[in-house]
Amino acid sequence: MLVTVLGSGAACPTARRSSSGYLVEWSGGQLLLDASPGTYQRALKAGLDTSRLRAVVLSHFHIDHTGDLAGLLWHRDDQLTIAGPPGTRAFVERVCAAYPDGWLPAPNIISFAELEHVAENIAVRTLPADHSDEAVCIRLTADGQTLAYSGDTADCPGVREALRGADLALLECTGEFDKHCNAAACAEICADAQPRRVYLTHIQHEPDTNLPLAEDGLVLTV
Ligand SMILES: [Zn+2]
Ligand SMILES: [Zn+2]
Repeated sequence: MLVTVLGSGAACPTARRSSSGYLVEWSGGQLLLDASPGTYQRALKAGLDTSRLRAVVLSHFHIDHTGDLAGLLWHRDDQLTIAGPPGTRAFVERVCAAYPDGWLPAPNIISFAELEHVAENIAVRTLPADHSDEAVCIRLTADGQTLAYSGDTADCPGVREALRGADLALLECTGEFDKHCNAAACAEICADAQPRRVYLTHIQHEPDTNLPLAEDGLVLTV
């Protein structure tokens, strides 16, 4: 599995860090994990092959994770598949309804569990995050390797379970914000969950930590 960090920043992008997005490639195709504004273009630059894009997978509905959905839908010749937490259908329908009829082709909206039916050699498990109501932590297993993605969350049992023993973990470290993790929380989560490798991401202010930080454009082999 190959993971490219398309955005290691938080809600407010900076010159160094775009908001959330990750390109995941495995033997069964490619998927996007979250889609902040500009993710589509950054994914193309990082090697996105739209004929191999199996799904866009959403952790929750905040703009820094979904702002490029309209652009992704607009530029697709075939039907885009979107997997997300409960409420994804209504959310995407509201996005589409903001534009004139026919501008955005209706996507194929599926549950996380159905992802295994639209893509080969992948399994997905979600755990409740402590963030917005719908937010989840995501654990993807593909080609025998496990990628854990915290999405946005405060320290909670779900994020610890999502990261437990993962081959690679992308853990949010937004800082001193409600319903997010700071550097101390990230250290505690990792000490408990023991992922084999971890990169901190969703960074608003550069954290004081010994854990490695994700960077935009970073390519990780899992
Ligand atoms: Zn966020
Ligand atoms: Zn959020």
